[in-house]
Amino acid sequence: MKTERLFDTDAFLDTCEVSVLECKKSIREGYTECFEVITDSTVFAPEGGGQKCDEGFFDDIKVIDVQEFDGEIIHFLEKEIPAGTKTTQKINTDLRFRRMQNHNAEHLICGIIHKKFGYENVGFHLSENYDENNNLHIEAIMDVDGPISPEDLREIELTANKAISENVPIYAVLPTPEEAKDIPYRSKLDITENLRLVIIDGYDVCACCAPCLDSSAQIQLVKIVDFMPHRGGMRLTLKAGLDAVCDYIRLHDDNKGAMKILSCERGECAEAVKRMNDKLTEAHDEKVALKRYITVMLEKELKEKIFNSSKTFIVYAADSIDEIQARALVNDNVVLAEKVIVILFDKTDDGYRFVAGKNEKLADVSLRDIAGKMREGLNARGGGSEQMIQGSVPGEADDIITFFERF
Ligand SMILES: [Zn+2]
Repeated sequence: MKTERLFDTDAFLDTCEVSVLECKKSIREGYTECFEVITDSTVFAPEGGGQKCDEGFFDDIKVIDVQEFDGEIIHFLEKEIPAGTKTTQKINTDLRFRRMQNHNAEHLICGIIHKKFGYENVGFHLSENYDENNNLHIEAIMDVDGPISPEDLREIELTANKAISENVPIYAVLPTPEEAKDIPYRSKLDITENLRLVIIDGYDVCACCAPCLDSSAQIQLVKIVDFMPHRGGMRLTLKAGLDAVCDYIRLHDDNKGAMKILSCERGECAEAVKRMNDKLTEAHDEKVALKRYITVMLEKELKEKIFNSSKTFIVYAADSIDEIQARALVNDNVVLAEKVIVILFDKTDDGYRFVAGKNEKLADVSLRDIAGKMREGLNARGGGSEQMIQGSVPGEADDIITFFERF
């Protein structure tokens, strides 16, 4: 039995009373039970041609999937609906319309590319993603089999939007194999039977199985939002219709926020960001130079401590230096005298991080033991080798210094 595909010729028919011809138990992922239903006609377009099936209901029974097997359209329903029942189908019209806007935008862009370069469309799917607020975002991803420059893509985008403003008709024809021979059309497959051609007057003729709009103006807007070389050709990402408009609104808000932060005019954000980036690089270089200078100063102070102190343990707090600088201070100075050098660095509210090293000649001091004593007496964390230990230690520098005076 062949179900009449109402969406082939009237994509805006979103509800219809149909008769159930067959209903049997089935399985579908995520459902403990569901039912396969075949009807005499249907407004539900099945999954195929790179896009998902329509969503909707048979009366108040949810349709969870629609597939086409061997030309037969199977609706998967949440509940049973016996053969012979008359039921009213209703699809999600907004979703259907947005998909058609993106799908037909792809036809239009491909048609223009085909006319200009002779390239074929070698891949297409509608990407559908939900954001954190559960808003759906649709975009069309399409591949063509030849290279296109960014300048040509800009021109193609303008031509497509001009075609939208021209409000040319979009319609489907179902030619016989004989008639099809005389019509030049784009097709990914070599089909002649049950051929359905979607025509955007003056711009494109393409074999297609999806519901399509009535006129180019319904596409509303198309924007190529991304492009990249792909398998010797190009992969383009398009946003069209309401999805393109919503994207524009989002980008506008985002741009406004950036303009405020950068104190710049509309259309000048990139230049202002570049200026800011240059300033950041300059500030970073300055910071590196200052750090180097601080290390030199600290080293001088540490050396004085080493030579003027009779104690074996030299504890030195350098609040703002980082681990690399702390390690350098230990390594560079531990060779000067028979001492243990403990550097406290990276101060936070919780305390310090530390690194400690000892002079090789100090045979009677075990840094591993010291680490153990620090864990016990100072509640420190960490450990290491006989020559070097590191970790974190809570408390104030004075208390830590006092602790080491015992050794
Ligand atoms: Zn199509």
